[in-house]
Amino acid sequence: MTVAIEVVDLCKRFAETVALDGVSFEVPDGEVLSLLGPSGCGKTTTLRSIAGLETPDDGIIRIGGAEVVRKGRNVPPEERGLSMVFQQYALWPHLDVKGNVMFGPLMRHKGKAEAHERAKRALEMVKLWHQRDRRIAQLSGGQQQRVALARALALEPKVVLLDEPLSNLDAKLREETKLELMELQRALGFTAVYVTHDQGEALSLSDQIVILNDGRIEQIGAPEEIWSDPASRFVAEFIGDSNTFDGVLEPTRPGEPGLVLRTTSGMRLVTNLRGPFGPGDEITAFVAFDDVVITETGDTARHNVVAGHVRLTSFQGYSSLAMIEVGDVVVTARVPSRSRLREGAAVSVGIPPDAMKCFGVHNGRQAVDGTVAAVG
Ligand code: ATP
Repeated sequence: MTVAIEVVDLCKRFAETVALDGVSFEVPDGEVLSLLGPSGCGKTTTLRSIAGLETPDDGIIRIGGAEVVRKGRNVPPEERGLSMVFQQYALWPHLDVKGNVMFGPLMRHKGKAEAHERAKRALEMVKLWHQRDRRIAQLSGGQQQRVALARALALEPKVVLLDEPLSNLDAKLREETKLELMELQRALGFTAVYVTHDQGEALSLSDQIVILNDGRIEQIGAPEEIWSDPASRFVAEFIGDSNTFDGVLEPTRPGEPGLVLRTTSGMRLVTNLRGPFGPGDEITAFVAFDDVVITETGDTARHNVVAGHVRLTSFQGYSSLAMIEVGDVVVTARVPSRSRLREGAAVSVGIPPDAMKCFGVHNGRQAVDGTVAAVG
């Protein structure tokens, strides 16, 4: 595996604000890495540091093996061999579509014929060649975003940095452009670092996801890993749609697989937890909407099956969200829309112990086998 980008212990402060605090990761050649996290967590600062638009206070960045950042050394952006696509596309309003895309290759002394060829290829890729003579102001936001993408691709870069490149598109166009971007990346084989706060985008586009929180990395992993095995409470809260159950652990009764969580609302939930956690410890369990099992009433053969009433259903296409009242709490489940749950109907709500992702109140970590690896 060749490493295209290496970021080692990156630190950056803006006055009192610590924007990055020891951020390290590697992007293998030809892979897509997403930086994901809430607003202000340091995504853009990381990307801009790789681009050369920000000077980190500390840390090392290597691109294609060459050191571009180290204390006292900051190679200018144009010498880093990167292409960038930003949220604000910064297109030239006085040039037409083709002119905007040819601009980069021309600046790099490629000659008019070559620049034209590259612009044609790039605009065909984003399906805008037929609009090549249009002024930028005559294009929709989505089309402008595609021109920005074509402009980056026309440089035939090895590495593309993308900062929320789909943010201004409506839902349908965003989905289409996302798929096109994935195809383009596979076809052209460039390495990409992709900034987004949209978990769906990060999950579908990336080979690896870096979850940032307050300038620090919470988890690095493949999308499936982050989805099914969040390393911290923060990740569990940020990724996926989950019910949250806070409470205190109680001893297990015979036949129960793990410790029992007595929730603050009085529910008794058998978990799969053993290990360093013990009775009296405060924990939070996250249970994805998809993992809650709704069945007809009377099914009490398994652990954690309680009776409830459907308070509300919200149609979402193939699936619906069902809010089920269980005593004083509401448990949300994703159910197939064809199950046609009626509001007010009596149902059984099942919470499988293996579906519970449990964390100590201080961001404890849960190992894959359900035991707790570390409690912070
Ligand atoms: P968003 O999703 O809102 O763009 P982000 O995760 O990209 O957020 P950054 O833009 O990297 O976050 O900002 C990280 C922190 O650094 C924030 O607290 C931000 O306010 C601060 N920050 C970023 N740039 C500057 C600047 N030029 N001057 C002062 N503070 C800054």
